Amino acid sequence: MDYKRLPVKVQLPEGVRCAVALSYDLEMCGGYAPDGVNHGRIIPAVQEYTLRLCETAERFGVRLHFFYVCNGLEEPDIRYLQEIVRRGHVIDNHTYSHRPVAVNSPEFMDHELWRANRLLKDCLGVTSTVLRGPVGYSHGWLNLPHANRMVVLRNGFKWITGEYDEDAFTRDRDYAVRAAENHRPYAYPEGLIEIPIQGWTDRMWFDMRPEVNQAVLDEWRRKRGHQPVPKGWRAPWTDEGALDGWIALNLDALDYAYENRLLWVPCWHPISHYLHDPENRMLTALLEHAASKKERVWVCTVRDAAAMTSIAKQ
Ligand SMILES: [Zn+2]
Repeated sequence: MDYKRLPVKVQLPEGVRCAVALSYDLEMCGGYAPDGVNHGRIIPAVQEYTLRLCETAERFGVRLHFFYVCNGLEEPDIRYLQEIVRRGHVIDNHTYSHRPVAVNSPEFMDHELWRANRLLKDCLGVTSTVLRGPVGYSHGWLNLPHANRMVVLRNGFKWITGEYDEDAFTRDRDYAVRAAENHRPYAYPEGLIEIPIQGWTDRMWFDMRPEVNQAVLDEWRRKRGHQPVPKGWRAPWTDEGALDGWIALNLDALDYAYENRLLWVPCWHPISHYLHDPENRMLTALLEHAASKKERVWVCTVRDAAAMTSIAKQ
């Protein structure tokens, strides 16, 4: 195992004060599934919600980035995905069946990535360039094995975004607000660049914090998971203020990135926002906040962020 990390330089484009590389993992999170299985067969209500996210983004001239679990491309109806691509949004590889890159064998991951790439190409005409590693790993330079990094590179990826910040659970709110500073891109010695997911994901915030009532979530998941929820329903495992707190946190994190001229890389999920933010307040608030700034905030894709990175000369 090689424990070295190489520094990566992030160069914001001319005239951009800070960048928000927003992406959504487009999947039916296993944490909501009665059987715990995560797949890319998105229920119609979440398909519709995802297209609403696209509409919101388009109002602000923003392209969204989705990382897709590609076994969903074997479903008969993939028109919503074709629509997303047709409208100029970006879809990339989130493996074939949502398997963690750091813990499975290189042979298994090779097949997962190859099969997902093949489906993206055949069904959507997409060549994937950035890989989102499912489930997440901490400290990739320690935990992502050399052979697995090589498999990622061999499948055509120069960038991986799979590391997440486990410290979010134990540190205070200020730490989360400074997400863009805490956890910057770096390179593995093999030349693969890691673009970590920074701060709280929506899954972590709404479903995994200590305040969350896990027994209630478990019960709901077993009985109602992966089914559409009625209008006016509120997730019974969170407190009343969970969504307001989430919005305020993300706006503060944007302010911090703006003040300090940083690249910020949040990671969200359409299904989590469908459940916890049915009125789509979060994305609207983020894009309005970004647009209200005096200098330019570029809400971009992780591909755009990847293009800003280069391995620094040592
Ligand atoms: Zn995922």
